[in-house]
Amino acid sequence: MSEMFRFADELGPEKIIHVYQPALGLKAVLVVDNTAAGPALGGIRMAPDVSTVECFRLARAMTFKNAAAGLPHGGGKMVVFADPKMEPAAKEQLMRALACSLKEEKDYIFAPDMGTEEQCMAWVKGEMDRVVALPKELGGIPLDEIGATGWGLSHAAEIAAGFCQLPLAGARLVVQGFGAVGKHVARFLAEKGAVLVGVADSRGALYSSKGLDVAALLCLKESGASVIDYPAGEKRERDAVVGFASDIWIPAARPDVVHELNVAQLQARLVVQGANIPFSSGAEAILHQRGIMCVPDFIANAGGVICAAMEYRGAGEHAALEAIREKVSANTHQVLEEACRKGCQPREAAAAMALRRVKKAMSYRRWHRQES
Ligand code: NAD
Repeated sequence: MSEMFRFADELGPEKIIHVYQPALGLKAVLVVDNTAAGPALGGIRMAPDVSTVECFRLARAMTFKNAAAGLPHGGGKMVVFADPKMEPAAKEQLMRALACSLKEEKDYIFAPDMGTEEQCMAWVKGEMDRVVALPKELGGIPLDEIGATGWGLSHAAEIAAGFCQLPLAGARLVVQGFGAVGKHVARFLAEKGAVLVGVADSRGALYSSKGLDVAALLCLKESGASVIDYPAGEKRERDAVVGFASDIWIPAARPDVVHELNVAQLQARLVVQGANIPFSSGAEAILHQRGIMCVPDFIANAGGVICAAMEYRGAGEHAALEAIREKVSANTHQVLEEACRKGCQPREAAAAMALRRVKKAMSYRRWHRQES
């Protein structure tokens, strides 16, 4: 029996498809976890060291993320076993061959993830239509350029700040990571009156209790410099950002940055997770005991996937941003209200909400198991 059946449960995975084209060196695995709400949406990860089990876990995370976001999509993921930095001509051949192999697989919509970018989606589009995150010229919405995820995060922060009785005007903000997610959430929250007092990128951290000029930092990053090249403020080593005093702390860099060993350094009233799994579960439990509210990643950072789902339906940028605002605000409110009422962690309330939605969607299927 396949080792995957060890992981199978009442939700899925529905299908695992192995794609193999030895002449091209194409080896890929598609996991369609659950399609009760609609065709599975989840990115294609290209890396030499991914596994089928990892692909399943990522697909399951998409089932929950899409359900939590209230999208008409189930969860899926694809991994391609290859070096993403290969020659563009070879990468084009690989992506086109992958698209041709799965042309008839209507339960999965191609999307980018680590190692596959907009250009790859354009090659897929040349072979078939079930693909999102396309270049503008092919009807795509440039989600990183417009800051789709940062826009959603800013609304999650606004709703959560209300639960903490924390006025956004004057709130001290710290953002870890100043890329596609971090720089835009800093910009949107500064527009709402928050004061950016700390920031970090891969080269170091910067702090100023008087506040940092977000526009100047954006110019600096645009020119290829680091936040530590900012002409004022205190320069610190990269991970010192965890201990910067703030009201709102936003991880927008890497997974596992806050764990049981450094969570005690965190001095904030509210954490809004931009990166995927930035905190260990132990660290989140400690924050909960300390009374620090933490909006979980798959609720707060759903802006990107909502944008992709809107693009798939032919929506433009304005409609996509409005859908992100509405969905992320409503879901953050529902999760925090339930967490406060039950006295549980927001992540538990969010997972329960997503599971309820997946099961409800499954109950509309022709074949489904009655709940006893
Ligand atoms: P990015 O590559 O554009 O930016 C990452 C930023 O983090 C850069 O400024 C980099 O210098 C900085 N960084 C890297 N390692 C760091 C470290 N150890 N400490 C501090 N800073 C560090 O990436 P992104 O698209 O902004 O994504 C950031 C995170 O958000 C990732 O975990 C990603 O999976 C997640 N995410 C992104 C989106 C999206 O729409 N782009 C959506 C959901 C989740």
